[in-house]
Amino acid sequence: MAATGRARGPGTDHEDLVSVTAAARVDARRLWLRHEAMARHGATAAGGVNRQALSVQEAQAWQLLIGWGRELGLMPATDAVGNLFLRWPGRDPLAAPVLTGSHLDSQPTGGRFDGVYGVLAGLEAVQALQEAAHVPARPIDIVAWMNEEGSRFAPGMMGSSVFSGARGLQEVLAVTDADGVAVAEALADHAAAFADLPCWPLQRPVHAYLEAHIEQGPLLEREGLSVGIVTGIQGKRTFSVTVAGQEAHAGTTPSSQRQDALLAAVRIISGLVAWCHDPQDLVRFTVGRLDVLPNAPSVVPASVRFSIDLRHPDSQRLCHLGDGILAVCEAQAGPCRVTVTELSNAQSLEFPASIRQLLSACANDLQISHMDILSAAGHDARYLHEVCPTGMIFVPCKGGVSHNEAESATASDLAAGARVLTQALVALTR
Ligand SMILES: [Zn+2]
Repeated sequence: MAATGRARGPGTDHEDLVSVTAAARVDARRLWLRHEAMARHGATAAGGVNRQALSVQEAQAWQLLIGWGRELGLMPATDAVGNLFLRWPGRDPLAAPVLTGSHLDSQPTGGRFDGVYGVLAGLEAVQALQEAAHVPARPIDIVAWMNEEGSRFAPGMMGSSVFSGARGLQEVLAVTDADGVAVAEALADHAAAFADLPCWPLQRPVHAYLEAHIEQGPLLEREGLSVGIVTGIQGKRTFSVTVAGQEAHAGTTPSSQRQDALLAAVRIISGLVAWCHDPQDLVRFTVGRLDVLPNAPSVVPASVRFSIDLRHPDSQRLCHLGDGILAVCEAQAGPCRVTVTELSNAQSLEFPASIRQLLSACANDLQISHMDILSAAGHDARYLHEVCPTGMIFVPCKGGVSHNEAESATASDLAAGARVLTQALVALTR
């Protein structure tokens, strides 16, 4: 729902004036041109971006960002997991910083805005604040988290999860890509190219974290709104299911004697679709991968392995649905044996009311129409939420299309989100 009444913004009238002035300094064209410049690194023929974590293309993106940061007097730094920070020290360089940013890596056929927008909106906000002569009471760090997408190295959100202490550094360093290159190796090469940057400690105190991001869904566009105040991130559980049958001759084995793993998998998946059926259409159930062995036309399949990606905004519901998967699999397995392995379990989360109210008051002060919105996709903010007050600002993307080379957003919507971010940074750094 669009906000109508004008809520009181944070701070005194004078401070409000400062922040509104700063937000007005956000330059839509400058922000747009930076997106275009960034999109050249890893540009694909179809107009998208392929910029894998810790790749040469990402290193080029770092160089570009660091260059822009240096022009604004920001100090670049990194850490042991390959996150990039650009620091504006403020009046008290020793105080816990406000972090804002997102990621610069992409899917193999990714778009120009996913992740990049959050980083560039942070840079634009800092530049606008500088032009408005705002001096933050504490540091503002613009951050580009390492490997959010989980495309080259799985799982994703490596930088933010290690930074926040949710995952161990060693565990992440051992992960290898499809070519057998370990994160440790890729990180060493990457770090060598940026040997002049200081390496800051992981798990340092953070005052607050704000992440601007394209919505990657259709709701804001449908409502004709420029900004979404993100209420939280829906939970997600992933599973791997293995159905074991028996390999047999397709011509000689009667149906009654078969242990056909693929037929069992089809029954199981149908059973799971029925189990997850939701009249409200809030459940997201996906089998995106199916591996059949031996995958030969004249052989009864011996085994099938498939993936389950299950999401729901309500943690209790997600818990209930996920916990029921094994029973459905066993009930539908027929003569085959089935095993279910849970790979990940991330609860739904709700961002703190204080940050959501702040963002919505900032949008009201700027007369930017907005609505509350739940994030259906995961973001680095999930991990920062564990260590500091965290919030997210969404802007629309065309048709809700993302993880796609056709991803598109308008300069004015990108600027609107950056304005809300700018004003919120004033409030968090006074
Ligand atoms: Zn993203």
